[in-house]
Amino acid sequence: MNQKQNIIGIAREDLEKEFTDAGIAKFRVKQVWHWLYFQGVRSFEEMQNLPKDLRQTLTDTYMIHRPDITKALRSCDGTQKWLLRFADGEEAECVHIPEVDRGTICISSQVGCTLTCKFCHTGTQKLVRNLTSAEIVGQLMLARDAFNEWPTPFSNRHISNIVMMGMGEPLYNFDNVAKALKIIMDPEGISLSKRKITLSTSGVVPMMDRCGQEIGVNLAVSLHAVRDDLRNILVPLNKKYPIKELIEACRRYPGVNNANRITFEYVMLKGVNDTNNDAKELVRLIRGIPAKINLIPFNPWPGSTFECSTADRIAAFSEIVSKAGYSSPVRTPRGRDILAACGQLKSESIRPSKSLLNPGPTALTA
Ligand code: SAH
Ligand code: SF4
Repeated sequence: MNQKQNIIGIAREDLEKEFTDAGIAKFRVKQVWHWLYFQGVRSFEEMQNLPKDLRQTLTDTYMIHRPDITKALRSCDGTQKWLLRFADGEEAECVHIPEVDRGTICISSQVGCTLTCKFCHTGTQKLVRNLTSAEIVGQLMLARDAFNEWPTPFSNRHISNIVMMGMGEPLYNFDNVAKALKIIMDPEGISLSKRKITLSTSGVVPMMDRCGQEIGVNLAVSLHAVRDDLRNILVPLNKKYPIKELIEACRRYPGVNNANRITFEYVMLKGVNDTNNDAKELVRLIRGIPAKINLIPFNPWPGSTFECSTADRIAAFSEIVSKAGYSSPVRTPRGRDILAACGQLKSESIRPSKSLLNPGPTALTA
């Protein structure tokens, strides 16, 4: 069994410390970082400007590992979904959505989810565990491998945007998500700007503040209902952090202005949350927040009980919101045929015994 640590996912400052402790000059971190995250190499042997003995030391100490892809599906609309298997056998999904002028990768933050939003497939799967920073960065890297997008191009990227909208609640795995996104944003590596990254939360209010202060990426908030009684049912986390607190956290989110707006996600559920009054209450609630409203047609999954609102209803809802001055794009469902659209992701992983729930640093070893 290979006990080496995965070098992918180690924070830059931690790597500097590890190198210093091992007597390796600090400037070597910059070189290794460049090879890993700018060039995308898969072995230390390829790091040509490192002395041979250092390459050997690194090979003996670390591995360079991405999650394994166990299944790859391609939708008729070009969307791709990868089922990933991690070192301990757990699984999660990640999706690539190509568009004319950009490509977005939708990344998972957990295997399963502790929350149980009624309309979400992932919500029917219990939380198995948090993903490590290596597993989060690894999702982006294997997509870059699939498009042969190394070294990091400065323009025309297949992967130009990231949405933390896959399986799981990213703000319940804050430390690993923050560490992974800092690696992804590092200008000497993958170099994706914080403006190209959007983190979606179901409303973990206290962590929204930390997200703004410590990561600074764009925020998307899964609102889905404008009254607490309904939101308590659709997004049960609302019982802990009700709408008023959620909206206040949005108002104080740092860096929000007309160029960097908060996205409110609103899944359109027929006869549940889609009346004109709902739309009017929505614009009243968010008045004063630079925001756009992303209307998401409900994506069905096996066993789901909701129906998607009709196209006419969605159009009427959207018109009220846009007449109030908010952009309200309807999110075109992508990859529905391969169950890759919003809320359709679910892996077969089942909940393990308690001892595995807190994997600790050993999760980085294979
Ligand atoms: N846990 C985070 C991010 C993952 S879900 C969150 O809840 O925000 C990404 C988005 O898809 C959320 O807005 C979620 O509410 C929405 N979603 C979940 N299930 C859906 C479904 N069946 N159809 C459409 N959107 C769905
Ligand atoms: Fe979890 Fe988000 Fe699905 Fe809710 S919508 S169950 S928070 S993944």
